[in-house]
Amino acid sequence: MRIAFLGLGIMGRPMASNLVKAGHEVSVWNRSARQHIDGARTAVSPAEAARDAELVWMCVADTAAVERLVFSDDGIEQSLREGMVIADSSTISPSATVRFAQRVAEKGVQWIDAPVTGSKIGAENGQLIFIVGGPAETVQAMEPLFKAMGKTVIHVGDTGKGQSAKICMNLQIAMIYEGFAEGLTLARKLGVEPEKMVELVQASMIRSGVVDYKAPFVLRRDYSPNFPLRLMHKDIHLLLDTAREARVKLPALETVDEIYELASEEGWDDLDFAATIQLLEKWAGLGGPTK
Ligand code: NAP
Repeated sequence: MRIAFLGLGIMGRPMASNLVKAGHEVSVWNRSARQHIDGARTAVSPAEAARDAELVWMCVADTAAVERLVFSDDGIEQSLREGMVIADSSTISPSATVRFAQRVAEKGVQWIDAPVTGSKIGAENGQLIFIVGGPAETVQAMEPLFKAMGKTVIHVGDTGKGQSAKICMNLQIAMIYEGFAEGLTLARKLGVEPEKMVELVQASMIRSGVVDYKAPFVLRRDYSPNFPLRLMHKDIHLLLDTAREARVKLPALETVDEIYELASEEGWDDLDFAATIQLLEKWAGLGGPTK
């Protein structure tokens, strides 16, 4: 299949590469120049990447980036033809997704929201989970593409529902991690070895995939970005905005947002979100932050 892939960040680069490995004809574009993927054609603009494509896949930072890719002067809107499909694996606003989908539908183009979970390691290993919204027949027809990049597709409902489910999932990731980080920090202050605390967590009913993924990094104080703090912070704001639109109150998330605000002020935006534990450690007098 002829696919345009836009956005070659931590997630997009291995996803596009896995599409090439699966034998697809891929053109790529990234905002910063000099981005290249072996076996793919590098395009000069989103519109040019999409010109001959049957399907356009995007994986960029946020709602504004998706809007730019699709609707700016050199956006893919210029190249849309009836029957094309846009798949968006960025995590963005559910209500904006519905608006964008309505706009491209006027050209006979379907919008599939397909945000992912699995992080950097899942993207590199082709083990992502896609959380999908859109018409069932189109989602089914895309099965080989999902398989090239991931292991599971969960079709949640119509357009926008993938994004809704994804942000509600990230709410829980942020909370589970915060619980882990606060428990670990207090345990350390009380003289419990962090390794022992992790052993207890993983042996008990509070074991979680979040801790499976993050604990090894936290124990060696490696905060290199798998899921950058700035993107989790973006998702927390998406959640608070979406909850406001839906008239739902999220008091615990509002508190977690304050931690991310302070971590951002510390200059940790490009570290992994696991770095937020360093604030708790600092407040507890447990040694200085790692940069
Ligand atoms: P990333 O490494 O920061 O990459 C972001 C990508 O978006 C880059 O290609 C960047 O281009 C592009 N971009 C940002 N602003 C743009 C703009 N205004 N116009 C055009 N392009 C723009 O992020 P990532 O980790 O790959 O995440 C991508 C998406 O997947 C995000 O929505 C994130 O929330 C979601 N996600 C990430 C993970 C994870 O663990 N990393 C997991 C699940 C979902 P430049 O290279 O020019 O900056």
